[in-house]
Amino acid sequence: MTQETPTENSTVRIPTALAVGELAEILNISAIDIIKELMKNGVMANVNQVIDFDTAAIVATDLGFELEEETDEINSSESSSKEQLTAQNTSLRILEKENTNSLPRPPVVTVLGHVDHGKTTLLDRIRLTNVVDAEAGGITQHIGAYQTQTNDGRTITFIDTPGHEAFTEMRARGAQITDVAIIVVAADDGLMPQTREAIDHVKAAAVPMVIAINKVDVENADVARTKAQLPEVDLIPEEFGGEQVVVEISALDGTGIEELLESVLLVSDLEEPKANPNKPAIGVILEASNDRHKGPIATVLVQTGTLHQGDAIISGLSSGRIRTMSDYSGNRIENAGPSTPIEITGLNSVPPAGERFEVRDSEKLAKREAIDRQRDFEAGNTGRETVTLDSLFGEIHQGNIENMHIILKVDVHGSLEPLVQTLEDLNEENIAPRVIHASVGSVNESDVQLAVASQGIIIGFNVQIENGAHLLAEQEKVEIREYSIIYDIVQDITQAVQGLLDPIFEEEQDASVEVRQVFRKGRRNAIAGSYVRDGSITRSSKARVLRDGNVVYEGDILSLKRFEDDVREVNTGQECGIQVDGFNEFEEGDEIIIYHLKQIR
Ligand code: GDP
Repeated sequence: MTQETPTENSTVRIPTALAVGELAEILNISAIDIIKELMKNGVMANVNQVIDFDTAAIVATDLGFELEEETDEINSSESSSKEQLTAQNTSLRILEKENTNSLPRPPVVTVLGHVDHGKTTLLDRIRLTNVVDAEAGGITQHIGAYQTQTNDGRTITFIDTPGHEAFTEMRARGAQITDVAIIVVAADDGLMPQTREAIDHVKAAAVPMVIAINKVDVENADVARTKAQLPEVDLIPEEFGGEQVVVEISALDGTGIEELLESVLLVSDLEEPKANPNKPAIGVILEASNDRHKGPIATVLVQTGTLHQGDAIISGLSSGRIRTMSDYSGNRIENAGPSTPIEITGLNSVPPAGERFEVRDSEKLAKREAIDRQRDFEAGNTGRETVTLDSLFGEIHQGNIENMHIILKVDVHGSLEPLVQTLEDLNEENIAPRVIHASVGSVNESDVQLAVASQGIIIGFNVQIENGAHLLAEQEKVEIREYSIIYDIVQDITQAVQGLLDPIFEEEQDASVEVRQVFRKGRRNAIAGSYVRDGSITRSSKARVLRDGNVVYEGDILSLKRFEDDVREVNTGQECGIQVDGFNEFEEGDEIIIYHLKQIR
């Protein structure tokens, strides 16, 4: 991409999708600045992540640049950046906030909180149908989202899989769909562990919250006490002079529900959710299953653009053409704009919840892309790297990760606050450890999801790791570090922020070589005339010389020649001359193992 170095306020042309690093290069500013700006807007991205034009435009505007889309690339489904865009999920929460073609869209709301505090009852009350009873009656088919109208005619989209696990699982897949989170706290119970956890998860996602103090109708409701607890989690209610919107409700009898909806709109109006309905749709799978008659059937949320019946779409490894579309009440529709939850059929397999979907020019293109993805998937190119304490420093400095995010689990309450404080005080010039969640108890799956979604690490202090969490951490490549001495945690984090942790290397064998003849140039320079049995040798490889199975020397390759010429690489079946730094005692029949060291932490 050849671009002149732009000055602030000049218009810069960029493609319809590009990596954060590419944008940084075009704007001639650091990728870290762009990543920080994206973070401010609720988008977690690393330097290699592809963002679309609208997202780029928003952050660029905030940084003082004006961007223009290279329109001729918009429909080029084969553009590599666009393919990458589909391969890597990017949050769309703030897409098109300031784009001129964008129009306001309904906010998307998720309800979170401690078990039994009334999430389901609230969603049910808002919808005015009895979901709780329907679940008890065993009706399994339901669409995972619905829309509601407020008294003044405005629409709000509710995702009705409540709970922060679902919220963070989606985020872990890169799908940040929520504009506003309602945290339900029962007034007779107050802040409970899962309330605190939910609040941390929402904060980590930088999603604004409305606190709904529920069950105000029950006899032992203590609204004042519940409000007074909020500062414990750094939420200061407006009536105490803070900014946290708090509404008192009864999900059961309907008290305060209208006020809650108004507050949601008020909070979301500050964010101004917008999207451009006049382009191909992009969205997220909320849930999907296989129907015996209809085949794969998915509830999806359109985030931007408009989805039409007959559109070719791709989602993860699935592709297809939209055969039927229906809204949340089961009515057949033909078009669905931004923030609309719908049910679709026509995909050729069941994509996972949280997977992004996108429209392609033709079903054939979508299918071909899905096959490519399948191939990548089978080759293990899932794109996710392990984030470890040891690699963090490098990743942060390369702009791949924004900061050191820590999830801390401890055995007793007493050690929590001091440890959080100590860790957060360990910041260096560029790296500031941030404890995004700290609580008492074993490491669970939701901790791992949070670590995935926030590219963080988990520190367990004298706690167990639940089985499911172990498995998920392995699968998602999340590091869980276990400690029993506080000093060790502090020492490791101190070293990590200073980039001083020793990396660990693992040996990978590249080739095995047979020495067939030894040439000497003077007393010092022995060259092993060798035959490569298998593998390939490069000049940067290391060599281990074996004689009768015993190691006689290990060192770097000093020179690699074919005939008289220096070469970069020699492969299986070829002959070559190898000189090993510091070794002159080659003998005919020696074996040389060629290897390199790969950093694993
Ligand atoms: P969830 O686990 O957070 O989804 O909680 P539910 O919605 O299932 O509610 C748990 C229990 O609390 C149910 O028995 C509800 O009927 C009851 N409940 C929920 N909201 C209220 C409320 O505002 N007032 C009263 N009295 N009970 C409520």
